[in-house]
Amino acid sequence: MLIQAFPCGPFDTNAYVVACEATQQAAIVDPAPGSFQVLVDYLQTHKLTPQKILLTHSHWDHIADTSLFKHHFGIPVLIHPLDIPNLERPGSDHLPCWISYEGVKPDGLLEDKDLVSVGQLIFEVIHTPGHTPGGICLYCHKEGILLAGDTLFRGSIGNLSFPTSQPDQMWPSLDRLAQLPKETKFYPGHGPSSTIGREDWLPRARQIFEN
Ligand SMILES: [Zn+2]
Ligand SMILES: [Zn+2]
Repeated sequence: MLIQAFPCGPFDTNAYVVACEATQQAAIVDPAPGSFQVLVDYLQTHKLTPQKILLTHSHWDHIADTSLFKHHFGIPVLIHPLDIPNLERPGSDHLPCWISYEGVKPDGLLEDKDLVSVGQLIFEVIHTPGHTPGGICLYCHKEGILLAGDTLFRGSIGNLSFPTSQPDQMWPSLDRLAQLPKETKFYPGHGPSSTIGREDWLPRARQIFEN
């Protein structure tokens, strides 16, 4: 698997290109503001064909360039149903936002336990509500890789004070991630990658982060 992070926008949100090296087929994960041209150049240089746009959640810093990619490549946009409102109607999650971007209708859903293919790679959707109602992680069991969105960071977890956050739902979400194999390498929505085993505080996340 080829996986490349591109920190973009005012919060250095990680947009990712995830690709199957056998087929050169790729997915764009979380098209952050300002990610469009840099990802288009990367895909072209590496002769990768994007097949779909996968959104871990609908905060604007993760989705702002979605419509640019969708129209340029004519590829489907997938998201969990509970995070559709802010994708279709930017600002409906009441998060302060100082850029303008176009709303997008999703073409498919990412629901818990759904399987998503990227070439020959298979990702399982893990619904991880808490940071937002429709937050998801994408888990490739065979490669031991997790795209964690804003649910889990190296040394921290996603903000639970945002308007649509559901703190009570975050703890079971983190418990599910804690049960993944320790060697699982995760790629978060902000900051560097890590492994589940390295974040050994994860089973105690509630004690540490609950206000
Ligand atoms: Zn977020
Ligand atoms: Zn974020």
